[in-house]
Amino acid sequence: MALVAEKAKGEGPAIGIDLGTTYSCVGVWQHDRVEIIANDQGNRTTPSYVAFTDTRRLIGDAAKNQAVMNPINTVFDAKRLIGRRFSDSCVRSDMKLWPFKVISGDNNKPMIVVKYKNETKQLAPEEISSMVLYKMREIAEVYLGSVVKNAVVTVPAYFNDSQRLATKDAGLIAGMNVMRIINEPTAAAIAYGLDKKVSSTGGKHVLIFDLGGGTFDVSILKIEDEIFEVKATAGDTHLGGEDFDNRMVNHFVQEFEKKHKKDISKNPKALRRLRTSCERAKRTLSSTTETTIEIDSIFEGKDFFSKITRAKFEELNMDLFLKCMESVENCMRDAKIDNSIIHDIVLVGGSTRIPKLQQLLQDFFNGKELCKNINPDEAVAYGAAVQAAVLSGGVEKVQDLLLLDVTPLSLGVWRYTGKTTVMIPRNTTIPTKKEKVFTTIMQNQYGIIIDVVEGERIMARDNKLLGGLVLSGLPFSPKGVPSISVCFEIDANGILVISAEEILLTGRKKKITINDYKNRLHSWEIEKMVKEAEKYKAEDEENKKKEEAKVLFELYAYGLRDSVSDLALNEANKKTIVDAVKKALLWLNANQLVECSKYEDERAKLESLCNPIIAKAKMRQTAGSKSQACSKVGR
Ligand code: ADP
Ligand code: MG
Repeated sequence: MALVAEKAKGEGPAIGIDLGTTYSCVGVWQHDRVEIIANDQGNRTTPSYVAFTDTRRLIGDAAKNQAVMNPINTVFDAKRLIGRRFSDSCVRSDMKLWPFKVISGDNNKPMIVVKYKNETKQLAPEEISSMVLYKMREIAEVYLGSVVKNAVVTVPAYFNDSQRLATKDAGLIAGMNVMRIINEPTAAAIAYGLDKKVSSTGGKHVLIFDLGGGTFDVSILKIEDEIFEVKATAGDTHLGGEDFDNRMVNHFVQEFEKKHKKDISKNPKALRRLRTSCERAKRTLSSTTETTIEIDSIFEGKDFFSKITRAKFEELNMDLFLKCMESVENCMRDAKIDNSIIHDIVLVGGSTRIPKLQQLLQDFFNGKELCKNINPDEAVAYGAAVQAAVLSGGVEKVQDLLLLDVTPLSLGVWRYTGKTTVMIPRNTTIPTKKEKVFTTIMQNQYGIIIDVVEGERIMARDNKLLGGLVLSGLPFSPKGVPSISVCFEIDANGILVISAEEILLTGRKKKITINDYKNRLHSWEIEKMVKEAEKYKAEDEENKKKEEAKVLFELYAYGLRDSVSDLALNEANKKTIVDAVKKALLWLNANQLVECSKYEDERAKLESLCNPIIAKAKMRQTAGSKSQACSKVGR
């Protein structure tokens, strides 16, 4: 079945965004290739962090860098919350580890509580994600020098309906049109052009090994006729680079204890500094075999200098590495295929740069070469950028890629018997549409309830209730007469629409998009959030101007201070300037982000006091040097 590409011409280039749990990445198709775009810090991936202070909002590196000082208002891991309910067991257990606060909002929706400009704010996970998306969009706009309206955004293959919808909403709040949501492993396979190299007979199987900052996903895709089918997924929602960092942190905490008889693990700030150094050391160990850790006055004035070898790092994490391999084995078993059937093994996620992991994976597949020539932390954004270009007609002569994914879990109806009637079995390729006819179980039954469940269990109550609809107004009739045709339809974005129609007697109809009423944001909520987002944006811009005015003033003050030593000033004048500069710097320190005019006023005050003194001193100096020059000539 061919999908129609949504055209989006004349709206600037469409971008591809990998919205990661810990890091995000953005790419664009340009000059016949994908460009991964660096942010304002020069980094090609951006932390999925948003922070709030009493003066401003920060996103990305700036937010992550101040996390130690402002832990309760620094939000990360929003992807773990998106499209979930507060009561979900994983939300409850994740919450325990987060320094920021999460509460239950309306309809059991998790809400993140932060303090911004001295006011308490509640933000939906979609809003936090929208801020990260907004940042990625801005990075692209700065690079391209044009407005960006359209994007392809990726999600994990196991994301359910409401998680996909919520991700789409996040895009809307960021002021973007999400042309399509695609699976991360599919995007990685596109990046490698694996869809292009398929022989006509039987297609091929690809294993995507994605180990990021806090999550691990293995997927097996079958690619045939440019159709991507997810055969199986496995992994661990709490395994990734951060665990490797933690192992190294614990190692050094013990070492410090041995050396100095002090336990630094009780001091959160020391621990955070150690963790930052460990992450850096870990990255270094992917390319060298030994590295150092150096932290000045980490604890009670004591410095910490140490070394770690790659071998030690591997030893500290070996059980975790082996756990990853176990998931690979499980995934192969679920897909019911043998090692030799796998054509390509694709590395995705920053943590797959670890040489030991690459070796274990390669050994598992009897020495087969791994696809790793696209940076693993960029491969997903790379594929998303290709898909964005295809959808917006930017890539010539490339047919639409048919991104047919599958449903990760079965979808069914909760019957009056308490059992589940499966409508769409697990691993069905989407888009899909399935219909079944039901009837009443009582005479004169007025309405029928269609409750939709997700999962593999026979008893409906053991599966997850996604929502439901009631088709009422059925005519008086004996039981078993009305014919209610129930239809489950999933579109290319993986979004589920349920409809029910009485087809025999009345033609009454009802339709819902699942989770629309429970978990998903209402359109008025989205509108409100879009307005808020615009407000944030305006504030950010205002802050930028303030920052510039502040920096200019600061530079001027320091310049003045430096000029004191260059100019021949008498003690009284020197003191006037030095004191005025000191006062100005103190004022600046106390007025971090105030109205631009205030900086300008203060600067004018300083100028009117110091400029006349400096001007006079300069005049004296030039006069002096002129007379000196004359005297030289005279000699
Ligand atoms: P996400 O989980 O958000 O998709 P990434 O795929 O970008 O994130 O992976 C981020 C993780 O990759 C971080 O834990 C980071 O420390 C790790 N990482 C990045 N570069 C390296 C490297 N050279 N060696 C080992 N780990 C790395
Ligand atoms: Mg990722």
